[in-house]
Amino acid sequence: MILKSVKGEKGITVIEDLRKLDKAPELNKENEYCHQLPALPEWCSREYASAGIRYNPALMKCTCGEREEPGYEYSGRDIRLLCKHLTRKILSPAVRKSLDDLTLLLIERQFKHGREKLIKIENEGAFYLLGYGKNTEWVNVYVQEKAWRRFAYNTKEKRWAYNSAPKGVIL
Ligand SMILES: [Zn+2]
Repeated sequence: MILKSVKGEKGITVIEDLRKLDKAPELNKENEYCHQLPALPEWCSREYASAGIRYNPALMKCTCGEREEPGYEYSGRDIRLLCKHLTRKILSPAVRKSLDDLTLLLIERQFKHGREKLIKIENEGAFYLLGYGKNTEWVNVYVQEKAWRRFAYNTKEKRWAYNSAPKGVIL
């Protein structure tokens, strides 16, 4: 694995070679990560109907057929199997209360910008995630500070979006 992280002094995380982030999806196949949707509350395991579509958020089922399209080769409760109908319901105030912040962060990002290939980097008992969407110039870096946060790094321009880098990450 080329992308390595080590614990530096004072618990600082050092991503050793950020320049190689743009190659990470190919180089880190074995670290591919699939985020599973946790179980939803019992009460939302029912059929909702809207504009000719029927869906059950708890069972992750919808009649819209979006997941039958090419590219949906995911399994289990992979969040990338969520269509827009399921996503909207899951992000509604009542349902989102039952979900953890990482799940919500990933689903919200996906809803706005499309599915990502995720890479999991283990770091001394903790981990962070790299997210690759269609725009390969930008890599999302999901890091747990107090809560999970998303940072974005431009691999061509070698800079963080809004000059905001994960705490303790040294370039
Ligand atoms: Zn749907």
